[in-house]
Amino acid sequence: VAKPDPILVADGLRRSFGGLTAVDVERLQVQRGTITALIGPNGAGKSTLFNVLTGFDRVDTGSWTFEGGRLNGLAGHQVARRGMVRTFQLTKALTRLTVMENMLLAAPGQSGERLLGSFLRWSWARQEDSNRERAEALLERFRLAHMRDEIAGSLSGGQRKLLEMARALMVRPSMVMLDEPMAGVNPVLVESLLEHISALRDEGTTVLFVEHDMDVIMGISDWIVVLAEGRVIAEGRPEDIRSDQVVIDAYLGA
Ligand code: ADP
Ligand code: MG
Repeated sequence: VAKPDPILVADGLRRSFGGLTAVDVERLQVQRGTITALIGPNGAGKSTLFNVLTGFDRVDTGSWTFEGGRLNGLAGHQVARRGMVRTFQLTKALTRLTVMENMLLAAPGQSGERLLGSFLRWSWARQEDSNRERAEALLERFRLAHMRDEIAGSLSGGQRKLLEMARALMVRPSMVMLDEPMAGVNPVLVESLLEHISALRDEGTTVLFVEHDMDVIMGISDWIVVLAEGRVIAEGRPEDIRSDQVVIDAYLGA
């Protein structure tokens, strides 16, 4: 890792559910342009940390900045507009829409912003054209173009994962967060997903992802952060994490 250049910096993040402290992170930094893996046993707080950082859950204490701007208190769609997005599993409602409709719904200017857009019809129409163009290009890239008019529910498990990633890219994010992107995906598709993740980094997009498969993690990550019981217990390069006794005891040896 060259000179530190963090795109995301979090300090003193805490999130409790009743008496359970799910996240208790003193400091977390994600360096720009890296693939950073967040690992740890089930229940370590990885998903909660993702939810908090992206505005889909609240914190009890702590603050965090993205590209130097504070994100505290912003809602999910506002965080996304700043350039930090996470993937979501397709909801039941989304599986009834076509692949293209799914892409367009993920475009900027959806949700609450739509009302304002309708006042400015001409700019709205232009926005829709450019959204459609971007969706088309992303579907090509993820080899889903031939499925554009199919119902998303008819996609294979692997194709859904690709669509989830493609949707996240509709807002042209500078950082993408992936929560177990390979879960339940066959080995061939894992390869393909890994290539897409590497390609994101090669284009300068920062990636933070949660994954369990150690071969996958070691092979693709520039930096690994280990979470256990809500805390960061170790971080470092893959080769250092692999031989870290604290990590082996808490996680790898389990
Ligand atoms: P991971 O993603 O690392 O498996 P999670 O972030 O999902 O871990 O969960 C961390 C801990 O917080 C777990 O003990 C889990 O049961 C608890 N937890 C997560 N979300 C909630 C919630 N909405 N309400 C109560 N407890 C929760
Ligand atoms: Mg999780």
